[in-house]
Amino acid sequence: MSDPIAAARADGRTLLSEVESKQLLHDAGVRVTQARLATSAEEAAAQAEEIGFPIVLKVISPDIAHKSDVGGVVLGLADADAVRAGYDSMMAAVRAAATDATIEGASVQQQAAPGTEVIIGTTTDPQFGPVMMFGLGGVLVEVMKDVAFRIIPIEPRDARQMVREIQGYRVLEGVRGQPPADIEALEAMILQVSEFVAEHPEIAELDLNPVLAYADGAIAVDARVVLAEPEAVEAGG
Ligand code: ADP
Ligand code: MG
Repeated sequence: MSDPIAAARADGRTLLSEVESKQLLHDAGVRVTQARLATSAEEAAAQAEEIGFPIVLKVISPDIAHKSDVGGVVLGLADADAVRAGYDSMMAAVRAAATDATIEGASVQQQAAPGTEVIIGTTTDPQFGPVMMFGLGGVLVEVMKDVAFRIIPIEPRDARQMVREIQGYRVLEGVRGQPPADIEALEAMILQVSEFVAEHPEIAELDLNPVLAYADGAIAVDARVVLAEPEAVEAGG
């Protein structure tokens, strides 16, 4: 699993798993909760002991894009016994909700402290090529379409503007006595992702949803990379 893109290509897949996506981003210097693949409750518990608690388990399946929709995310597992039980109950829930899905196992990762949820992502526009997006997590992006876009590659000035032009910027500035989010850390992550995607034209889509923003720093806790169809890359588009 040293090169997740090559591994996906070899399998004829365009969707990288959370574990693979985070490995790529970590290697590119983006701060993520690194995730390890476990294929049994026992293995998950052993990995959790090494990683440290609290632990989050998530289903790994090429057929499941939105893990929490099918009961495929379990937060707040405090010890090895909780991880074992959480693994089995999560798998039962996912099998019931997504009957036909192929399940490879679960990702095991540390639970990050609560923060303000933002989304950093990229898509490919048929006309403009790779495009960077930034927004606040949850309903603000999904319902209000409160999102900033820029064509990749972007410059530091673009990252500064993107963060400030969304309506949700006021939330990042700090509301109701909450400390402001680390805007510079978010700008730096936007720039890192822009650079990473500019260097990898075979990436069609990338989603860090959510990134947790803190008073000091930020970390991506979910990641999804989608590759372009191989013909599209050869054709240069
Ligand atoms: P989905 O496939 O449903 O988008 P996510 O991996 O985004 O699954 O997990 C769902 C939610 O669980 C996230 O929006 C976040 O609030 C929380 N979460 C996921 N992973 C972590 C983590 N490592 N630390 C803290 N919270 C997490
Ligand atoms: Mg997510």
